[in-house]
Amino acid sequence: MDNIKNKSLLSILCEPGEHALAIDNPADGSVVGYIPWQSEAEIDQCINKSCLAQKLWQKRPAKERSCLMYRWYERVMDNQADLARLMTLEQGKPLAEAMGEVAYGASFIQWFAEEGKRAYGTTIPGHTGDRRLMTIKQPVGVAAAITPWNFPIAMITRKAAPALAAGCSFIVKPANQTPLCAYAILELARQAGMPEDVLQVVVHHSPEQVGDLFTHHPVIRKLSFTGSTRVGRRLIAQSAETIKNTSMELGGDAPFIVFDDADIVQAVQGALASKFRNAGQTCVCANRFYVHDAIYDQFVSQFTEAVKSLKVGSGLEDGVQIGPLIDVQAKERIFRTINLAVEQGATIVTGGKPLDGCFVEPTVLTDVQHSMSFLREELFGPVAPIMRFTNDEELLEQANDTIYGLAAYFYSRDISRIWQVAEALDYGMVGINEGIISTELAPFGGVKQSGFGREGGQEGLEAYLETKYLCFGGIQ
Ligand code: NAP
Repeated sequence: MDNIKNKSLLSILCEPGEHALAIDNPADGSVVGYIPWQSEAEIDQCINKSCLAQKLWQKRPAKERSCLMYRWYERVMDNQADLARLMTLEQGKPLAEAMGEVAYGASFIQWFAEEGKRAYGTTIPGHTGDRRLMTIKQPVGVAAAITPWNFPIAMITRKAAPALAAGCSFIVKPANQTPLCAYAILELARQAGMPEDVLQVVVHHSPEQVGDLFTHHPVIRKLSFTGSTRVGRRLIAQSAETIKNTSMELGGDAPFIVFDDADIVQAVQGALASKFRNAGQTCVCANRFYVHDAIYDQFVSQFTEAVKSLKVGSGLEDGVQIGPLIDVQAKERIFRTINLAVEQGATIVTGGKPLDGCFVEPTVLTDVQHSMSFLREELFGPVAPIMRFTNDEELLEQANDTIYGLAAYFYSRDISRIWQVAEALDYGMVGINEGIISTELAPFGGVKQSGFGREGGQEGLEAYLETKYLCFGGIQ
């Protein structure tokens, strides 16, 4: 923490104690720091304060909200290096990736600072001569969010920025493993002049309790969740009682397909980026590779060579590309999966050996069949299972044979095939000859049990707006 220059980013830190949560560094198991967690009564108070703040916030002109958000964006970017270091300490990702995430997270603040000024309504041709019809857009109200540890800043700003731009107040429960980044960006919002209760962070030792409070509280009108399908399912059920507007960004099981006409060098680069970013711990990570028989050997040999050269280590070390997994449980889960894969007939081509602490060697598995049960789950680690295919129709059936539908990727140079496959893949997002697809400019989200709702793009703002229809009568 000595290398964090702006000490105000650490103002939340406290002494260890009964009401303090310890934040561990996954690279070496040391405690990064302690932060206080709130009681349920305190969280309830935060929600009520959020409600009062929202009433004033929505009255501020969109342009004024936008100016505040721009100042917040600038503060985040001015502190990019400190925020990235904090992220690497609590989350483990390599510093270069953390720098990228800070910029990516900030880009949502910038984008929605603009989009908030464009929350246009419509005028509608009337159905009788004496009436005039129109719609206006209004904020949903108090918005709450629950976010995961794998993108400790971007998963918050992707929700907070559109909410604030729309005129909602926003209250977030970050993952208990990565709350320091959440408090740091909150501090920067305060420094930028964001009214205190409009944007709040709450932390409690029990995520279930916060989930209960958020879903049952009548004042909260919107709940946006990013995390596992298991928890999302539970939150949807709990939200039914208050008929809450919900958005769900859930798990993924991305197929990565390489057709026989693909540019293999490009495909290998895309596969590396898609699979190994954040040590394989992203919802859009390639989970299963399907490579055409005609180029299978070539792809596997080039990909394996590239995987062998990936540098594993603490995210703060120069040149490291694969940091630790988030905790020891995640590492144990990955090794259970690798062992199961081998029992079912898969071959380890590289990696597969446990390293110290939370580290896992990047691993490539071949002799994998689509029917193997280990493939039914999100791997969420640096393991790449590769299958062979010969028939496009069969391949598409297998690619879509999953409960998930977040992201899919394929490589081909045939324009007819590209359109046909892009349309046939049952996923919310498709990368075509590209392994990294996320940007604030485009709608991010899934279908099937990967959730519903979109974040980023024009659609991201809509998630925090209601459409009100106005009918003017008696016009002679
Ligand atoms: P998780 O266990 O579902 O946790 C996500 C968040 O939910 C954390 O803040 C967690 O709190 C909280 N939580 C856990 N149980 C809860 C409950 N019963 N009620 C309310 N909140 C609860 O997921 P994860 O393991 O952290 O994250 C990985 C998952 O997120 C993967 O499935 C990944 O695909 C998905 N993800 C999806 C997207 C997307 O955009 N679709 C993006 C990133 C990640 P604690 O931290 O305190 O446990």
